[in-house]
Amino acid sequence: MKQQSGKKIFGGIAIGKILVFPRRKQKIIRKKVANIQNEIERYEAAKAKAVEQLKEIYIKVLEENGESQAQIFEMHAMMLEDVEYNTSVHNLIAVNHINAEAAVESTAEHFISMFENMEDEYFRARGADIKDISERVLAILYGCYTDCNIGNDPVIIVADDLSPSETISIDKKKVLAFVTEESSVNSHTAILAKNMGIPAITRISVKESWNGKMAIVDGDNGKIILEPEEEIIKKYKNRQILEWEKKGEFFALKGQETMTLSGKKIQLCANIGNVADLSKVIKNDADGIGLFRSEFLYLERDSFPTEEEQFQIYRQLAEAMADKKVIIRTMDIGADKQAAYFDLPKEENPALGCRGIRLSLAKRDVFKTQLRAIFKASYYGNIAIMYPMITSLEEIREIKKILEEVKIELEMEKIPYGKVEQGIMIETPAAVVLCDFFAKEVDFFSIGTNDLIQYTLAVDRQNVEMEKYYNPWSEAVLRLIEFVVRIAHKAGIWVGICGELAADMELTSRFLEMGIDELSVSPAYILPLRKAIRELW
Ligand code: PEP
Ligand code: MG
Repeated sequence: MKQQSGKKIFGGIAIGKILVFPRRKQKIIRKKVANIQNEIERYEAAKAKAVEQLKEIYIKVLEENGESQAQIFEMHAMMLEDVEYNTSVHNLIAVNHINAEAAVESTAEHFISMFENMEDEYFRARGADIKDISERVLAILYGCYTDCNIGNDPVIIVADDLSPSETISIDKKKVLAFVTEESSVNSHTAILAKNMGIPAITRISVKESWNGKMAIVDGDNGKIILEPEEEIIKKYKNRQILEWEKKGEFFALKGQETMTLSGKKIQLCANIGNVADLSKVIKNDADGIGLFRSEFLYLERDSFPTEEEQFQIYRQLAEAMADKKVIIRTMDIGADKQAAYFDLPKEENPALGCRGIRLSLAKRDVFKTQLRAIFKASYYGNIAIMYPMITSLEEIREIKKILEEVKIELEMEKIPYGKVEQGIMIETPAAVVLCDFFAKEVDFFSIGTNDLIQYTLAVDRQNVEMEKYYNPWSEAVLRLIEFVVRIAHKAGIWVGICGELAADMELTSRFLEMGIDELSVSPAYILPLRKAIRELW
């Protein structure tokens, strides 16, 4: 038995087999081959397996996340059957007598550079798809595992790191826990793991050889135990039972009010990133959705989601929550949430670059499509919108102009829409300083502490090395929050917190003292937080 300690992302206990997330680490070595036919057959077999995997993933993502996010896998399967791509691989093997791996690599390089030099934005973005499909074939040729090999039994996913798009493409029903080497605990990947409500730890020095081994992940203590003895498994199974019992106690709080002993009430809402999470929102009895991270609709696909696709998703949210509020945050693309088809120039400092509202205002058509879809869905429930990364009054004014255009268009088209509350995220120091002006323009504020900490303390939330400086309890940040609540209330608008700090129970009483009106957290935190609030004066 071996064990390693790292850092907790999300608590809980998982016991099961490890699956080392597919990563091809080998460098491609060009070799001469004698038997050309053999080599072509090796390539064809790997390609067929890749196509089969992509079709399986397509079905899984379709069931879990809907057509819009599944499409990309269908397209990748088609790309792998492309005649030109395949002819190139076959020719390179036959003419140059090289191995399949080298032929795939050269073919990929050729097509990637061809696409990247094209004028048309759409075709330029296809380079990333070629890279993806070629990597898949190479992983199979090298005998690495790939995503759909999860099999029937749920597993502990072990990886060096996972990107937000990789995380959303994993079949969540089959994941017991995440163990990574270097995820920042403040990254969106970590946030997605929390939204899933399963144990997750990082800072573990992971090894390929762990694949298939039995392990225990102790999320509460940030620990992984490899090949545990029966005794230890028994001990952890008992702890698991206690956890489930505790969950049972929490579930008894469903339907109860979130109110302190002295009668202070607060809204407890959920943060989610896709419609599949709706069941968790309902199961945990959230008072509403305080943050729908709409940017995840834009990831893991190869083109912008259409108005109709988005409308269907927002409508589903609105209808499922009935009269409870659903706050849709407009797309916060940029920084660590990248989608190749946006074709954004490479930035030295993406967190300080074209992200959030800046990108929406730069891509007005894309933004307008999203606003139209949200407004159309507002007819079916209680929808509010909020905008990320606001730093100036000009941005709010610009948004308002676009909103007016959207409303006029919908009226002319005789498309009904409801009343849509308008809010902004307070996640930059500039937004805090200017919040008295902003309060005159909007209906509510939602404080995004993940970014507010990053920008106030000048610490990159993605940078693992800088984590010691990323101090969520910094008085600098807490004072800013207090200031925003005071100013918002003076102006007569409500204010919530939707960053990860909202779930920090060591701060709950302080937030209540400040007078915060709403806390929005990952669904799994709702009932424990309700319990804590009900025990406070
Ligand atoms: C935040 O910054 O606190 C927030 C909620 O937004 P995100 O984590 O998606 O950047
Ligand atoms: Mg943010």
